[in-house]
Amino acid sequence: MTAIPETPHRPDPTIGLGAVRDAIEGACTRAGRDPRSVTLVAASKTVPADVLERAAAAGLTVFGENRVQEAKTKWPALRERIPGLELHLIGPLQTNKAREAVALFDVIQSVDRPGLCEALARQCDRQGRRPRLFVQVNTGAEPQKAGVLPELADDFLTACRQTYGLDVAGLMCVPPADADPAPHFTLLAGIAARNGLPGLSMGMSTDFAEAIAHGATHVRVGSAIFGARARVQRDVI
Ligand SMILES: *Cc1c(COP(=O)(O)O)cnc(C)c1O
Repeated sequence: MTAIPETPHRPDPTIGLGAVRDAIEGACTRAGRDPRSVTLVAASKTVPADVLERAAAAGLTVFGENRVQEAKTKWPALRERIPGLELHLIGPLQTNKAREAVALFDVIQSVDRPGLCEALARQCDRQGRRPRLFVQVNTGAEPQKAGVLPELADDFLTACRQTYGLDVAGLMCVPPADADPAPHFTLLAGIAARNGLPGLSMGMSTDFAEAIAHGATHVRVGSAIFGARARVQRDVI
């Protein structure tokens, strides 16, 4: 990261939201896709609850948080006030937080290892809940990043189904920060296609249009809607 933004978060998310919606529509038109085939997941880490409430009032219904702890402090109250919201976990999940994650999230996008699958399967059974699951693929094979390695993805997906009885809805990736994302989107789309997975969560503020051209069904957009985050929080991804 280069510049450290001075003012985290715009108080009014509607301007950013309008621009992002227009850009999604434009990208869909260029790709010959129905805009309804792309879900905007508003990446809301570090965004305070009052701004989220305004975003929901402006029609945003799907939100993604990175940390179980932060989601727990913000979302139960918001969801009580605003029905119909959908909450995704888009950050790495520790196995010992599987219980809380299953209780809190409608979609968990960061499934990436057998121990976590086991914990999620157990919690789904115990709680009678079935959050939709995406498997995160570390397309750039970055050592510090979560996700299954691309060459291990097929076997892992088979294990999810056969060993753990988990239904996987799609794949997610976070390409390396300084790389051209296109090859990563192509790689993820290829793994999804050969495994018969309909969901593709890829594309963030700087590259969601490109991700849509590569078939993204979910784009995770934060700063383009809410404004820049402080650097310390940027580093969590
Ligand atoms: C924060 C985050 C995003 C959104 O990033 P922006 O660049 O702010 O759009 C997307 N995906 C993940 C996993 C994130 O942590």
